[in-house]
Formats: sequence, C-alpha cells, structure tokens
Amino acid sequence: MGTEIRVWFWHEDTQLGNALVEEVFEEAERINQMMSTYIETSLISEVNSKAHEAPVDAGDELFYVVERAVDISVLTLGAFDITYESVGQHYDFREGKRPDADTLSREVDKIDYRFVELDHEKKTIRFAVEGVRINLGGIAKGYFVDRGADILREAGIEHGIVTAGGDSRLIGDRRGRPWMVGIRDPREDGQVAISVPLEGEAISTSGDYERYFEEDGIRYHHIISPKSGEPVAGVHSATVFGPDAVMTDALSTSVFVMGVEEGLTMIGCLPDYEGIVIDSEGQIWYSTGLENPSAPLHDKPATDPEPGSC
Ligand code: ADP
Ligand code: MG
Repeated sequence: MGTEIRVWFWHEDTQLGNALVEEVFEEAERINQMMSTYIETSLISEVNSKAHEAPVDAGDELFYVVERAVDISVLTLGAFDITYESVGQHYDFREGKRPDADTLSREVDKIDYRFVELDHEKKTIRFAVEGVRINLGGIAKGYFVDRGADILREAGIEHGIVTAGGDSRLIGDRRGRPWMVGIRDPREDGQVAISVPLEGEAISTSGDYERYFEEDGIRYHHIISPKSGEPVAGVHSATVFGPDAVMTDALSTSVFVMGVEEGLTMIGCLPDYEGIVIDSEGQIWYSTGLENPSAPLHDKPATDPEPGSC
C-alpha cells in the first residue's frame, strides 16, 4: 500500500497476540495484491487494461470498493473520482515526474466516474471510454483498516487501533479513556497540530505532505482535482472522522479537493461525520458539529451550512 501499517491492542497471551498482528498484516497484503495499480497481476490492473474492451469480473470485494467509490463521487459532486488515475498514471512523485501539457489536455477528459459502468448482478466493471483508468489510493486504506479491525474484534479484542498511513480505525476506547488521535502539523515534521479524543470511530487525514515533489517552488502532490487533472491548492490537510473508515478515507480526500467552505459544508450535512481542515495559511477550520476543542492557537468560526444547502 506504499505506506506504514501499525496495529495496537492488548492481549494476555503474547504468542496469540503476535499471531493476530501477523494476520492483520497478511490481510493488508491480500488487499494490496488485489487493489494496487502498481502490481501488474492485481485484479485492478486487469480491470484497467481490459474493461474498455469488455466487462471484467471484479469479484465481490473489488466490486464493493469500486461501487462505494462511485457512490461517494455522487455524494461529493465528483470531487472524489477514482478515474483521476486517467491523468494520475502520468505522475510519479518519487521520480518527480508529471504529465506535460499535451498529455494533460488529452487525458483530463477521461476523468469522469460516470465512465465506470457497474453491473450489480454480475459484479463486472466496464469503462465506457477508451483510456479510462481507476485507482483506489483514496479509499482502499480505509477499507483495509476496517477489515483489520474486524479480524481483531472477531478474536475478542475490545480496545485497539489499526492504522494505514493517514487512516485509522479505533476499537473501543483506550481502556477507560478516549484515544487521543493526533493530526499532524502539515509543515512541521513530527509535530502534532491538534489532538482529537475518539472512541470506536474511524479517522482519516489527507495531506499534501504524504507524496509530493517540488519544481520551481511549486509543490506537486498526490491529491488531484478531477476538473483540472492537477494537484489541488488551498488546503494543507483535511481530516474526517465518523463510523465508517471507507467513508472517512474517501471523504478526507474529497474535502481536500472541495476546499474549506464547500468541503466542511458537505460534512455538516452528514450527521455522523465531522471534519477539521488546515488551510494553506495554517488556519484551522472545524465542521459545525465540533466545538473548537483546543481554543486559542488559530481559531476561526466553524463553517455553518446555509439553510437549505444540504
Ligand atoms: P493518503 O492517506 O495516502 O494521504 P488520501 O486518502 O489522501 O491518501 O488519498 C490520496 C490518494 O487518493 C492519492 O494518492 C491518489 O491515489 C488518490 N486520489 C488523488 N486524487 C483523488 C481524487 N480526486 N479522487 C479520488 N482519489 C484521488
Ligand atoms: Mg483519504
């Protein structure tokens, strides 16, 4: 998954505990083998190479994640769009590579989740247009942390965390106290900008510091506007928490793309979800359901949805 996975929990038996950790890591690898576009033999790579010619059998699991991704595209009015990969495939953040103007203008029209045709009975995926590509980088880690937590819960674990990069699923509390989940300071490595007390929920942060390179003073990072095919400006990090990690993962990416006002207004319309955005000025913004948990630093009013805007 190109990221660090961490698992925390208490267990009375070290050997059984270690075996459980191993099981969670194996689950990550299983999902990676299915959903990574970097692996040529993955199911998603097969979809990407063949789904324009004919519908590809995606199997229950990949179909489920793609279906959820498309639903979230509808919810976010296209801010979240796994076909961003039509352009995204031309970026290489490790190598400092980005698409040239010709490639960008040729591929940007292939970003549109409506090109992904799903057959709900047969669990097949077809692309309506040639050259469309999908990538689950904005949602698959959320799917994994939920599955990892299921493994622990089924083994009787009542207090724990499964984390993959910026996505975490909490199980219960920290044995009588809430878990304090730190949101990274987007410009100070290793510093925490704000801590949120949470129990049992999922929390995801999308940041412009995870994968990027700089060229002529411009930061090219991995969160792409489906409209322009280029990295989104205006936000340093977007955090969303709520009951479902698939949602928090995809929504954190979406809020990043939508920006402070539109993004947090959308979150304000989802009863079970809250969000915190750090904009490119370092200003911290909260969704309406959150009372500013750590007053002074840089506090700004929460963004209230306009009446009738939900
Ligand atoms: P991370 O936890 O790696 O920071 P995010 O949840 O922020 O991940 O998702 C970023 C990833 O989402 C990118 O690496 C890319 O794979 C994918 N992505 C980028 N832009 C979009 C978009 N507009 N819609 C859906 N997925 C996207
Ligand atoms: Mg995300």
